[in-house]
Amino acid sequence: MVIAGARTVPVVLRSRAAVSGTGTVDPATARPEGTMPLRGPLVDRYGRVHTDLRISITDRCNFRCTYCMPEEGLPFKARAEILTFEEIARVAGVARTLGVTSVRLTGGEPLIRRSVVDLVARIAAIGFEDVALTTNGTGLDRLARPLAAAGLRRVNISCDSLRADRFAAIRRRGRLATVLAGMAAAEDAGLVPLKVNVVLIAGVNDDEICDFAAFARDTGRIVRFIEYMPLDADHAWSRSQVVPAHEVLQRINARWPLVAVDEVPSGDPAPAERYRFADGRGEIGVVASVTRPFCGTCNRLRLTADGAIRNCLFSDEETDVRSLLRGGADDAEIALALRRCVWGKLPGHGINDPGFLQPARSMSMIGG
Ligand code: SAM
Ligand code: SF4
Repeated sequence: MVIAGARTVPVVLRSRAAVSGTGTVDPATARPEGTMPLRGPLVDRYGRVHTDLRISITDRCNFRCTYCMPEEGLPFKARAEILTFEEIARVAGVARTLGVTSVRLTGGEPLIRRSVVDLVARIAAIGFEDVALTTNGTGLDRLARPLAAAGLRRVNISCDSLRADRFAAIRRRGRLATVLAGMAAAEDAGLVPLKVNVVLIAGVNDDEICDFAAFARDTGRIVRFIEYMPLDADHAWSRSQVVPAHEVLQRINARWPLVAVDEVPSGDPAPAERYRFADGRGEIGVVASVTRPFCGTCNRLRLTADGAIRNCLFSDEETDVRSLLRGGADDAEIALALRRCVWGKLPGHGINDPGFLQPARSMSMIGG
């Protein structure tokens, strides 16, 4: 454990709203329904330009994390319902022509899909600025090098506890040691800086906040504390289980002073608010989807493993591109479907609205 040093550096914690004027967009700024542009970038009615595509490549997983999947009984899609590599690459290619610059592969657990390295090579060949992947880390010891060679740039590894027994209780499968070995393998393969996703749940693992901060300081890995979202298959989420990002920052800052990392001048739409340790040893981030929504700068759209385009994690509407792909649609029709989906995006995810309803799909079926 790292011992706190002298706290002489001023604390510059901040609210996201203060930094980039985000939160949710003002509904009054919506452009009229019939004015969707047919050229230029993928834009919604509030002017948000979409440049980031999350592709879920499987709804299956070798883990059963409590906050995501049930222990058993979640029905998986039949193989025929899942997009082929050709279909995924086709949608990605169309998205590229519409100005999408970054792709992240996810799931389910993306590394359990057979020949995932070939898919990464296909996606990388399209010419995105960034190709990344989110994984639970199992399999990386074997796959990190081939993935990097195929064109993967970065990897986020989920790890919610640094205690083996607790890790097992939260994730219900897999071993902490394997995931830590996967992190080392990813670094050896040059997939750096490595990001470590930690979903915090009050009373479960929030006593490890400072342990994870020490881990970030000791390893150079960027630990991102993620607020628990109402996307668990068990529908057990409750607001009282959310550990607010400001609490996370306060606790860490009290021990190791933090300084906000300035976002890029154009307004970095990345959801994580970034902080570096004032003494220069490492960085952490918080993803405050519940308490400080970043819908105002959201630039993401999602492709589910079974071929639905979603404009928000929480949307209850989606666009079926699989039927288009399999029905002989040309690229222009697919592009139009993507445009329409983005155009229909709501100003905010609505988690904090009184009438909020959890979407039908849970996280592993959408792709986080
Ligand atoms: N299986 C991979 C993994 O676990 O990293 C990729 C898919 S997983 C759905 C993507 C991310 O979503 C992970 O970092 C996971 O911890 C996070 N996640 C899953 N359910 C969540 C929830 N209810 N609230 C917040 N984050 C969640
Ligand atoms: Fe699987 Fe990732 Fe969901 Fe855990 S969070 S059950 S590893 S998809």
